[in-house]
Amino acid sequence: MTQATVMMAEMTWPEFAACLEHDPIVFLPTGMLEQHGPHLPMGVDHLLPTAIAAMIARDVDGIVAPPLNYGYKSMPRTGGGPSFPGSTGLDGATLSATVRDVIREFARHGVRRVCVIDGHFENRWFLNEGIDLAMREVGDTGLRVMCLQHWDFLTQETLDDVFTDGYPGIELEHAAVLETSLMLHFHPELVRTDRIPDNAPMDAPPYDIWPACKEWVPETGALTSAAQASAEKGALMAAQYRRDMTAAVQRELLS
Ligand SMILES: [Zn+2]
Repeated sequence: MTQATVMMAEMTWPEFAACLEHDPIVFLPTGMLEQHGPHLPMGVDHLLPTAIAAMIARDVDGIVAPPLNYGYKSMPRTGGGPSFPGSTGLDGATLSATVRDVIREFARHGVRRVCVIDGHFENRWFLNEGIDLAMREVGDTGLRVMCLQHWDFLTQETLDDVFTDGYPGIELEHAAVLETSLMLHFHPELVRTDRIPDNAPMDAPPYDIWPACKEWVPETGALTSAAQASAEKGALMAAQYRRDMTAAVQRELLS
C-alpha cells in the first residue's frame, strides 16, 4: 500500500513500520518560536522547513517527523532578540539534548538516514552538537545524518533574481524578503499582507551585549525591508530548493 501521508505524526504505528521497510530518509524540521515582524506568524522558522521537508519527502519517498518548534535563543542582531513578546528560546544544551534524544530514538526504530532541515539561524551549532552526540551514542549502526539551513542552498543566480538591489546576507534577512516570499508561496493565508514592513536595515555594532540592547533593533522586528517580497520570488526559491536539496539528499543519503 502506498503511504497516504509523508507526515510521521499523521501515521499509525503500523503505517510507520511499513514505511521503514524501504529504509526511508526521515526529515527532521527544526525552528524557533520567535517574532517575525508585524506581518508573519511566530512559527515561520519551523513552518518553512516543514513545508520544504514535505516537498522533498514526496520526491524521495521519505517521512517528515514533527518539527522541533522551539529553538536556541533569538539574538538581537539576527532575530531581534528576547525583548519581543513571544520569542521563546531554549538553552543551547536543551536543544542539543533534544536533537540527540530524537535521533537516537529514530535509530532505535531502525531509521538509518536522517536529514535535519533548519530554519533558525541561531540553531546551527547546537544542532550539530546534538547530532554529534547522537552519532556517538548509537555507535556503528550505519546511521547517516545530514543537516542544512535552507537558505544556504540559494545560488547566486537565484539571489540575483530575488534581490534586485543586492542580497543583504542572511543575518539581516530576518522577517524580510526571503522569509516573507517563502511564506507567501507555502502559507499565503498566514501572511498579513497589509502589514508588510518597509523599514531601513538594522545598523548594529559588530558585537553582542548582555543585557540585550533593544535600541539596536528596528521597532517592527524585521531587520530590513520586506517590501520587495512576492509569492513569485517564493516559488522561485522553492523550485531551486526542490531541485538542489533533492539532489543533495539523494547523493548523500540514498547512494
Ligand atoms: Zn526566521
